[in-house]
Amino acid sequence: MRWLLVLLLFLPVPGVAQRLLDFREDLAFKAEVVEGVAGKAYARRLSLLEAEGKLDTDRDLLERLHGILDRLRAAAEYEQPASSAIHWQIHSCRNCGESASAMAGGRLLFGEEFIAGLAPTDDELAFVIAHEMAHVLAEHTREYATTARFFLANGLHREYWDIQRELDESIVANLRMAHEYQRQELDADYIGFILGARAGYQPEAMLSLLRKLGADDPSFLSRHPEEKQRMRQAQTMLESVRRIYTLSSGQLR
Ligand SMILES: [Zn+2]
Repeated sequence: MRWLLVLLLFLPVPGVAQRLLDFREDLAFKAEVVEGVAGKAYARRLSLLEAEGKLDTDRDLLERLHGILDRLRAAAEYEQPASSAIHWQIHSCRNCGESASAMAGGRLLFGEEFIAGLAPTDDELAFVIAHEMAHVLAEHTREYATTARFFLANGLHREYWDIQRELDESIVANLRMAHEYQRQELDADYIGFILGARAGYQPEAMLSLLRKLGADDPSFLSRHPEEKQRMRQAQTMLESVRRIYTLSSGQLR
C-alpha cells in the first residue's frame, strides 16, 4: 500500500510538482532554526578535525564521495525539486569514531575506517551516501525533535535548541525515543534505495551493502534496526526499485 502511494508520488505528472514529503509542513520548529544549529555544530566539528589533522585525509575516498554525491544530488532534485536549494557538504575523517552521519541542511560526514572496513563498490558506497542524504531530505532532525516534545519534560513549551541539547546529552531521552529512531532508519533506507536506483546505481548493491553492514560492523548495527528488518524491507522493495533503475537509465546518467 505504502509502495503504491510512493509510486504514484514518483510518477512524473506534467505541471505538478512531485512531492514525496508534503507532510513535512506540519513539523514543529522552523527548518532554518534546525539547520542553523546543525550548521554551527558541523562547522565546529570540522574545524576540530582539521586542527587535529583528521579531516579528509584519504583524498581518493573524498573524490569518490564527491563523484557519487553529484549523481545522487541530481536524483534528489528529480524526486524532490525543492532539494535544489540544499547546499550539500561531504567530508571524511580518520580516527574520529564516526561511521556515517548526516546533519540537517545537507551536512554529511563519513569515517574513513568505517568505509575502508566495508570495502564498498561504488554502487554500495552510493547507497551508504543515499541513506544519509535521505535523513536530510526527510528532515529527520526536525521530525525527531518534534516527536521528542512528547517524551521530554515540559517538551511542548521548550525551544528547539533546548530540546536538541537534551537529545545530544541524554541517553535516557534517546532510549525513550528508540522506536522513532528505528522508524527513521528504515525510512532512510527506503528513500535512499529509491534515490540510488534513480541515480543509476545497481539495486542489488543495496542488498550486498546490508549484508556487509550486518556482518562487518556491530557498532553501526547497534544504532540501526536489526539487519533482518532492514534486509526484509529492501527485498520487498527490490522489484519496484529495479523498475526505477531501468526507467532511469540514460535520464540522469
Ligand atoms: Zn541512518
